[in-house]
Amino acid sequence: MTEELFREDASLFECTATIVAIDEAGVVLDRTVFYPLGGGQAGDAGTLATEGGALLQVADTRKHPSRPGDIAHVPPAGAFLGGFAVGTKVVARIDAPRRRAHMRFHTATHLLCALVPHPVDGCSITAGYARLDFHMNEPLDKDALTVGIARLVRDARPVSHRWISEAELDANPQLVRSMSVTPPRGLGRIRVLEIEGADLQPCGGTHVANTAEVGAVVVTKIEKKSAMTRRVVLGFADQA
Ligand SMILES: [Zn+2]
Repeated sequence: MTEELFREDASLFECTATIVAIDEAGVVLDRTVFYPLGGGQAGDAGTLATEGGALLQVADTRKHPSRPGDIAHVPPAGAFLGGFAVGTKVVARIDAPRRRAHMRFHTATHLLCALVPHPVDGCSITAGYARLDFHMNEPLDKDALTVGIARLVRDARPVSHRWISEAELDANPQLVRSMSVTPPRGLGRIRVLEIEGADLQPCGGTHVANTAEVGAVVVTKIEKKSAMTRRVVLGFADQA
């Protein structure tokens, strides 16, 4: 099982690691700072570098399709893997600006959850935008949501995570906001993300440590996707 350093500290942008497998899915390390696609959040990109000077681009990161618990660092198609073998020590370094964007948008989607008291039935977080689908038929006001997010950002609320037992989650079903992403079961514990006084729900993604770091995020669009779905799209203010 790949040790998931990003679960405890999302601010780690690099680590040393040892290659434990190389196959058609990609390169598997014993530990990593690379977040694999999941929970709506895009996988990380970056590089793996050996002491011998070989450098491999990582185009995407996925949960390994056939090795449960392992994470595959996916090179671009046709990449040359010379210098990389099982046992090789590497420095794994993520594309930090891209990840910072994921962390800011991901935290902003939690702020949206605090403002819109309806279940979530879809979520996508990329470096360029984030979107969240709410199961509801009432109209939403774009400007009011942008103002609401800005207020929570200005509040500079601490963002933290902790682990609870599955029994504790079962005793508090109201914690589960998402209809599309169910918390992973069978590991004995579930990661919950808390934004002080605003939002508390199971989440395995990467977030900033304080809402102030979300910065200038605005609602760029609200779409009626179906009778019971309202899609809210977020962008960075300087790209809107
Ligand atoms: Zn989250």
